[in-house]
Amino acid sequence: MSFLSFLRFKIQTYTSLPYVSLLRYQRRIANNNDFVILCYHRVRERTGIFYDNNISASSLEFRKQMLYINKHFNVISIDQLTEHSKGNSKLKPNSIMITFDDGYKDNAINAFPVLEELCMSAVVFVTTGYIDSDSIPWEDQVSYLFSKISAKKVEIEDKRVYPLETQDQKEKSIWHFCKKLNLFTPVKRNEVIRGLYDKYQIDEEEMHKAAHGISMGYMSRKDIRYWDDHGIVYGIHTVTHPCLTTLTEEKMYSEISESKRALEDILGKPVNAFAYPYGRKGDFNNATTQIVKNVGLRICMICEPGTNHLDCNYLGLKRISMDGDTNFELACHGILNFFDLFKEIRKLIELRRK
Ligand SMILES: [Zn+2]
Repeated sequence: MSFLSFLRFKIQTYTSLPYVSLLRYQRRIANNNDFVILCYHRVRERTGIFYDNNISASSLEFRKQMLYINKHFNVISIDQLTEHSKGNSKLKPNSIMITFDDGYKDNAINAFPVLEELCMSAVVFVTTGYIDSDSIPWEDQVSYLFSKISAKKVEIEDKRVYPLETQDQKEKSIWHFCKKLNLFTPVKRNEVIRGLYDKYQIDEEEMHKAAHGISMGYMSRKDIRYWDDHGIVYGIHTVTHPCLTTLTEEKMYSEISESKRALEDILGKPVNAFAYPYGRKGDFNNATTQIVKNVGLRICMICEPGTNHLDCNYLGLKRISMDGDTNFELACHGILNFFDLFKEIRKLIELRRK
């Protein structure tokens, strides 16, 4: 465990209401207009065999989180954010935005009804090439395969070895293997996965049986239209979810513009928001930003963690990923580690002195 991870672990362990109450108080008295954007992926129960790494919350955890946000924060919409970006309005202190990436079916089943019940808005960035797909996503297939392979390691053509002897090794190997497959074209990726079924004699039918009852796939056109009428706002997330910077400019352009056109066709109205797939430094560059501007997108989100200020870059809005390691309550305040917390508490002390 690195020193920073250790500090992060400690802060999560000792996080308690006093810190969070202090932060709320600080924001209120400082009239702090920074806003936080949370990024969710899947909202479903953990399975232990499929790709649980992108589960942001279980249904129950999500409900609790939304009740907390509803009680303590001002949930902002894309329209409010757009007006704010033009300088036409000011956001209230403790503003927060809820976003979902990829357009998973489980969002429509487990998350949106909660948002509707609490009258909260959210933005969903849809990978348009996956709309209507109810097949098992490739990451889930990799996880299933790795959980069933009895060999001590998996090796693919680049000779890289993925050890599977312990649970920890399995989890790391799944993560590295998926990262590797991300760089392949969809055809090549399917070939590699198909090769694993054959080589290790894993029964695909058994996998489908194991997935029965779990919302594995993506939202349908019908889901998208239904939730468009019930408080959900949509943005695009490309057609096939590539790392854009690995593509030629021509291909980058088609991934973004085709995705926009497809979603606008479904919704019958313009789409102005975009989230970069993966969204970390290296997953976007000057060329991607220029294309985003050229196709008329006005609000773009990345996954670099942090809060956003009034004069921030609206084509690179930071978001906090809700993953297994994220402390939800601190994340809502934009606090990701011990240093952030220390800075906020110091600001509070300075404010009290004035
Ligand atoms: Zn994504």
